[in-house]
Amino acid sequence: MLQVTDRIPIPNYMPAALYNLPTVVKLVLFYIVEDFGLYWVHRLMHTRPVWRIHRWHHFPTSLYWLAGIRATMPHIALFNLTYIIALPLLHEASGWAFQVIMVEHIIRNNWMHLNVTWRSSWLEWVFVTPRYHQIHHSSNPAHQMTNLGALLTIWDRLFGTYYNPDDVKGELSFGLGERVSPARLIIGV
Ligand SMILES: [Zn+2]
Ligand SMILES: [Zn+2]
Repeated sequence: MLQVTDRIPIPNYMPAALYNLPTVVKLVLFYIVEDFGLYWVHRLMHTRPVWRIHRWHHFPTSLYWLAGIRATMPHIALFNLTYIIALPLLHEASGWAFQVIMVEHIIRNNWMHLNVTWRSSWLEWVFVTPRYHQIHHSSNPAHQMTNLGALLTIWDRLFGTYYNPDDVKGELSFGLGERVSPARLIIGV
């Protein structure tokens, strides 16, 4: 039977020992490498030269589950670069791993933009939650460049961009705080 992996040309420039690992281990390694890349790509997007391709994502003044799909084409391309770089870790992995990644990526993007603020400190020790990501969307200057993580919160802790959701005082407000024409926002120029 044709496997998903038969359709995906995965380069095999990783050490041979890696290919003998169980698929579940390869999947964990893939997520760590991909998530590390996502953190830095996201951080890059918040620097002046690249900000214009990302600001449409920060445009909404209220968060809701579909807010995560607001992304310009270069925004999508840059984030997908991390997926492509981490993909060789899944060389000769079982087909189910790709199905897990595909479904998880869609659910996660909707999950992290949910309009809920329940307290989930134990979960945030490891994973990004809606209230964790909401701080990243906050228009408060104190929250600028914080909580950049996509899946794991460890990168924010390690690289100095962590903002503890328990330290937020009062209601958050969202949005850009700058006027940009809709066409420029959507195209990313
Ligand atoms: Zn951002
Ligand atoms: Zn977001």
